[in-house]
Amino acid sequence: LKIIDKINEHKQKGQPFFSFEYFPPKTSEGVQNLFDRLGRMLLFDPLFIDITWGAGGSTSALTLEIAEQAQTVYGLETMMHLTCTNMPVEQIKFALDRAQQLGVRNILALRGDPPRGEEWKKIEGGFSYAADLVKYIRENYGDYFGICVAGYPEGHSDCTSKEDDIKHLKTKVDNGADIIITQLFYDTDIFIDFVKKCREAGINVPIIPGIMPIQTYAGFKRMTTLSKTFVPQEINDALEPIKDNDEEVKKYGVQLCIEMSKKLLDFGVEGLHFYTLNLERSVRKVLKGLELISPDKISPYLPWAQSAAGNRL
Ligand code: FAD
Repeated sequence: LKIIDKINEHKQKGQPFFSFEYFPPKTSEGVQNLFDRLGRMLLFDPLFIDITWGAGGSTSALTLEIAEQAQTVYGLETMMHLTCTNMPVEQIKFALDRAQQLGVRNILALRGDPPRGEEWKKIEGGFSYAADLVKYIRENYGDYFGICVAGYPEGHSDCTSKEDDIKHLKTKVDNGADIIITQLFYDTDIFIDFVKKCREAGINVPIIPGIMPIQTYAGFKRMTTLSKTFVPQEINDALEPIKDNDEEVKKYGVQLCIEMSKKLLDFGVEGLHFYTLNLERSVRKVLKGLELISPDKISPYLPWAQSAAGNRL
């Protein structure tokens, strides 16, 4: 199913959905671990999962393979990321045709980042912006794919202004995108303000917050620096005295994520999208803290899973 249809269907349950992002691991052992993890996290009953597309298409074959396994073997609704960086249209077509053959119904259409240390530039026979990719998918594949695009509560790093960025986001939606997932953020007020501005600009599709539990202090610093994410002072203050204690940092990360999620759910988001970093424990604790998973909430379509989950949740 397309994710937008699943979101609309899920609304009748009167509770928020959640979904998980994974990236293709570098080693075959890592890939096996990821499959084992997918098998376990399937018990949580995410609305969908998604697999990133390595910078510049570097993981294209593996992304397709993981998407296929997740969709067909694990029965998870799977969304494949696809970027324009270094991708002539023939290669984009190849990836989309393959996704279609594999039964993948959802694409996260992205421009992609430039190779490290370079400026982004369109290649010969390629696309300039994610909006062009969205248009291409709709023109060539009709309604087959559900299309998601990226939104930036703090504005994208290349944008001329936050207002322009929202205008460009609207073009992606006008071209056929049916949901938006945001870049990670740690100040919920910034997300809420962004959604209000999007609505004022006439963007009416679901805007799903991207949430990343803090796993390690170094990782958090690296990630927020790289994505130029604003970190509220109280988070820095809370982390400073515990930064050398990994367990304490993780515990704080879970607590912070629960608080942020509650605020976002009170605001009215339809669901929560977790950047799992291919890890399971923190996400499980957050979902448990929010009472979104428990053995009796496991899908009734998976009776065998209920008893397995009973031991695990
Ligand atoms: P676009 O929407 O094309 O925007 C890029 C920039 O161009 C913005 O500053 C925008 O304001 C500007 N712009 C857009 N249209 C115009 C126009 N007509 N004229 C002038 N300026 C314009 N990267 C990966 O490599 N692989 C992944 O799997 C991946 N997954 C991601 C998932 C999410 C949820 C998010 C938020 C990001 C992800 N990224 C991924 C990172 C993403 O590729 C980068 O942030 C990239 O730099 C921008 O991609 P975009 O699709 O948002 O670009």
